[in-house]
Amino acid sequence: MNLTRRDFLKTTGLTGVGLALASLGLDMPKVKAAAKEFKLKGAREFTSICHFCACGCGVIGYVKDDKLINLEGASDNPVNRGGLCSKGLGYGQIPNSDQRATKPLYRAPGSDHWEEISWDEAIDKAARALKKARDENWKQTEVIDGQTVDVHRTDAIGFIGGSQINNEECYQNIKMARALGVTYIDNQTRVCHATTPPAMNAAFGRGAMTNHWGDLKHSKLIWIEGSNIAECHPMGLKNVMKAKNNGAKIVHVDVRYTRTSKIADYFFQLRPGTDIAFLGYIISYIIENKKYNEDYIRRNTNAYCILRDDYKFDEGIFSGYNAEKHKYNMETWGYALGADKKPQKASDLFAPNTVMSRMKEHFSRYTLDKVSGITGMSKDDIELAAKIFCEYSPTVMMYALGMTQHTVGVENIRCFTILQLLRGNIGVPGGGIDAMRGQPNVQASTDFGIMFQYLPGYLSFPTEKTNTLEKWTRASGTFRAKWLKNMLKAWFGDYATPANDYAFNLIGVRNSSHNDSIYGLFEDAYRGTVKCLYLCGQNPHVTNANAGMVHDGLCRMDTVIAQDIFVNETAEFWNRPGDNPADIQTEVIFLPACSYLERRGTITNSMRMIQWRMEGPKPLGDSKPDYEINNLLWRKIRELYQDSTDPKDEIIQRMTWNYSDDQTVEDILKEINGYDLTTGKLVSGIGQLKDDGTTSSGMWIYAGVYGNGEHKAQRRGQEDEGGLGIYPNFGWTWPDNIHLLYNRASCDENGQPVDPEHKIVWWDAAKNRWEGYDVPDVGNRNAAPGTPDGNKPFRMTGEGYGRLFAAEYSDLNPDGMTRDHSYTPVDGPLPEFYEPVESPTKNALHKDEKAQFNPCVVYPRLPEKQRIGTKDEFPYVLCSSGIAEHWCSGTVTRNIPWLNELVKEPFVEMSHKLADQLGVKLGDKVKVSSARGNVTVKAMVTDRARPLTINGEETHMVWMPYSWGFKGLSKGPSTNYITIDALDPNVQEQEFKACLVNITKA
Ligand code: SF4
Repeated sequence: MNLTRRDFLKTTGLTGVGLALASLGLDMPKVKAAAKEFKLKGAREFTSICHFCACGCGVIGYVKDDKLINLEGASDNPVNRGGLCSKGLGYGQIPNSDQRATKPLYRAPGSDHWEEISWDEAIDKAARALKKARDENWKQTEVIDGQTVDVHRTDAIGFIGGSQINNEECYQNIKMARALGVTYIDNQTRVCHATTPPAMNAAFGRGAMTNHWGDLKHSKLIWIEGSNIAECHPMGLKNVMKAKNNGAKIVHVDVRYTRTSKIADYFFQLRPGTDIAFLGYIISYIIENKKYNEDYIRRNTNAYCILRDDYKFDEGIFSGYNAEKHKYNMETWGYALGADKKPQKASDLFAPNTVMSRMKEHFSRYTLDKVSGITGMSKDDIELAAKIFCEYSPTVMMYALGMTQHTVGVENIRCFTILQLLRGNIGVPGGGIDAMRGQPNVQASTDFGIMFQYLPGYLSFPTEKTNTLEKWTRASGTFRAKWLKNMLKAWFGDYATPANDYAFNLIGVRNSSHNDSIYGLFEDAYRGTVKCLYLCGQNPHVTNANAGMVHDGLCRMDTVIAQDIFVNETAEFWNRPGDNPADIQTEVIFLPACSYLERRGTITNSMRMIQWRMEGPKPLGDSKPDYEINNLLWRKIRELYQDSTDPKDEIIQRMTWNYSDDQTVEDILKEINGYDLTTGKLVSGIGQLKDDGTTSSGMWIYAGVYGNGEHKAQRRGQEDEGGLGIYPNFGWTWPDNIHLLYNRASCDENGQPVDPEHKIVWWDAAKNRWEGYDVPDVGNRNAAPGTPDGNKPFRMTGEGYGRLFAAEYSDLNPDGMTRDHSYTPVDGPLPEFYEPVESPTKNALHKDEKAQFNPCVVYPRLPEKQRIGTKDEFPYVLCSSGIAEHWCSGTVTRNIPWLNELVKEPFVEMSHKLADQLGVKLGDKVKVSSARGNVTVKAMVTDRARPLTINGEETHMVWMPYSWGFKGLSKGPSTNYITIDALDPNVQEQEFKACLVNITKA
């Protein structure tokens, strides 16, 4: 590496100014330019995309003698314009790291060591283990709600990972897993952003970040809540700072003062888990003070729609609640429908039962007194925050895991969607909701359906209620059935025909009541039913809440197959300090993958932009690209099943896998893009996909990425007509290269921009066509504004409107079949404040015990492992999150010596007041314990932490980073031994951000 340690430390923090440089994303130090030029002479240059957060920063690497000799930011990449943060830069140490595993490894049952084995042996063992688990535990039928259902699946295998591999590898993994009949399918998004897609989808019809980094420069107000962007998404901050330099105001709302608070104009601190109360007040303030954008909500939202009169809400419970099942029947959450089965609208915004009038009533309960007591914020601060929110427009709301990791995660984000719709901030430059993703390809691993509930492209995975194509279509709509048929054509080729429902019935069926997430997986492993686990770039031994459960589950499996760059804590769980390996009978097969710099493929960042990674140095030792490992594994599995006549194996035999060895990645990307099967040509976009089996597309939302044979992810065009920061010819953005989702909402009924200074799309009457600097987000570019298709600003919802109230609604075709169904969160059509499952106080909004915490949460699920701690025993509120220098489980960053030098070990941050009460000083060792376990770390006593007064009582908050474990160059106890695995009922994401702990001097 050309960058010296000294230069690195200067850049990333040890000199004081360095941190600011890194955070602001200024370019690498231009040190010794002449010497560098000399060193790089004769080196091969390649471009790629950073491995860590999902900002998607471009890098340029230099290879000489098959070694990486330099890594720096790519100055032509619009995301980072040459800047890299400490992690992105530090990755340059990985390709040559002597800590990497470079040979396949095997740990025999009961053994205390690894043995090196050949690739042939490793692949053979892995394939046979998967086959054994599948064949011995095949579930052909299951009794669900008293009915015997053909489910043809296995519950004995888990497939975990995907957010650190490339798109093509994600696609291989999901095909393998679904062909094997696996239902425990998950990736890191379960732990991070699983709550984002349903929340955004419920309001807008799509689940993704709406705007893009370059668009931030148009914002007048940047509202950052539940995110420490300065440390976790530093290049996102670079774009925020551009807006600040243009005069934008920055508000930071969080549970503690951080480096992000430091650059904000306003900082508001609240108690962990109380965002809905705070935001509920702001919603109420907007409605009461008529601060909503009346024109926008009339044109673009369901504000005027009339709700059914049997929709009720009382004492924290919505109508239709079944206390025994912790579930709602959502029927009463629908609209009053006209004879045409469409929602009826009132002419008066506040007529009885309009969405707006019911919202007014609902949120009026969030008074200043109540909200101040709940959040710990002063009444002045709450009111000030509401006024600031209403003073500026456009406003962008940015968030990360501070909002998602709660048992009310979906409803937290729903508050953002309501606020932004009310203020007219969706679909306009400078507006939007930016969900900042934390892993390099977590966006795409979610897009590709590496989650139990989805198929690729957010198509629902079949359950007992949707186990035929007809039933599936009735639930999801003909609109989505078209994309499903295209996927089935890609998966099953000529075998998929209209006559056999496109081979829909080859795919397994899951039980809709069962928790098939990574949490359900380890609970069932503990119960003894999960036998084999395949992991790809994920380390749940460190990253799952209540991590002791992960360990116990692993101990009861037959086989763990771990595919990764480093041997991490999950792969070597049998060697945990204090345990006896002889007691653990799980065999482990380790498949050494190479680093991202050593392989090619596409990757999708937070703002949906797909970029190309070139190959740099050769893979170190015998390590291999994941796509090659996947090829080897699948071919071996198929070989093992090739002569079977058992019907359960037909899906394995029929699943397409036509990838050449030297063009695997390109072949897969083309399959994902899709073909016109009548001509053999690649389709140009979603619009070319047909409903009749004459086209295929592995994932419809990426149709166009290889449009007309052009590899668009490779593009590096710098054009930006209109100066909006879009760069339409750089990479390719899904869907259809639309950068600003819902941009139709920026125009009036006549299709003309409401804000001509920031026009982005418009109806061109002369051309009879929608035009724009961005691709217009309309279903048909020739559909004039006055026509039904030309007037759907949120065309992906059933209604075609933005949904303030997430009503239960299916839009029907003239023949009565569902055209599209809108998503409604299972825990309510409007957000409601509930306490975290472990809380220091009573819910001040409702007395009903059922509504103390989210009434749809089922916890504990395994009482002996999931005790709920009380305030008497555990008086302090713990929040945990990441830091700039270490990332996620720390598998990679704790093997980068330079980063370990910056932050050496985990710690707990507390206020001076609490430290005094405990008799603890800075650097003292303390024991932090919860109802699930304890860890001993050093105390970090700061002015940043301070107690809050909650419902009249002083309450202390403490904070811990979580990226440590017993492997790597920097070791330390895992915070997740003490966190709680209570889950959001929509998507089973855990409540990392609030649990109760005690602290004593160690
Ligand atoms: S970690 Fe994120 S912000 Fe830092 S260089 Fe990588 S992609 Fe960019």
